[in-house]
Amino acid sequence: MAVDLEGGWEEHHRRFVEKKMDLSWGQDPSVAAVYCSDSRLNFCETFSLDAQGSVFEVRNVCGLFTQDAQAALSYALCHLKPRRVVFLHHTGCGGYLSLFSGDVECEITDYLFSHGCRNLKEYVESQDIPCGEVFQVMVEEGLRRQLNLFLDFMERHFNGVPEGVEVLGLVYEVESDSVYLVPDKVGGKRMYLK
Ligand SMILES: [Zn+2]
Repeated sequence: MAVDLEGGWEEHHRRFVEKKMDLSWGQDPSVAAVYCSDSRLNFCETFSLDAQGSVFEVRNVCGLFTQDAQAALSYALCHLKPRRVVFLHHTGCGGYLSLFSGDVECEITDYLFSHGCRNLKEYVESQDIPCGEVFQVMVEEGLRRQLNLFLDFMERHFNGVPEGVEVLGLVYEVESDSVYLVPDKVGGKRMYLK
């Protein structure tokens, strides 16, 4: 895919001037989103939140609740007051795939193990689920663990999630461009939003 950063910037700047956008006063994002670095994911585009300044984003491999995500969400919740905190995972995630590659990608597996995903693969494989579903269910279980780490962090540092803030765990299905709420347990029902 050809990349034209200069042309892309000119187009962006033209729209910025046309809309008379002024973000110099600060930011007021309605959503704080933690999600994977995968280039197929684009939170703003997926949810048609294309206005610059509308989403406070934290991106890393898999979309884990890492130390920088802790710092970023702490800042967002204390100063920006988003109405929603969203953790978004996706099918076919290369980060989670590393759990199947043994020692080949130990940097990624170590990173996963450090953020709630130790024994993730073994746990999911021990559950009674169809073979073809194992990977997707593993991504879902990884996401639930990130949500739990986040809620635990909020409890310890902020006496819980601020009132009025909704916390969501979503999975993006790359194959179908669909999004569903992460089931509350292994084998739970997937509630599709789009
Ligand atoms: Zn990914």
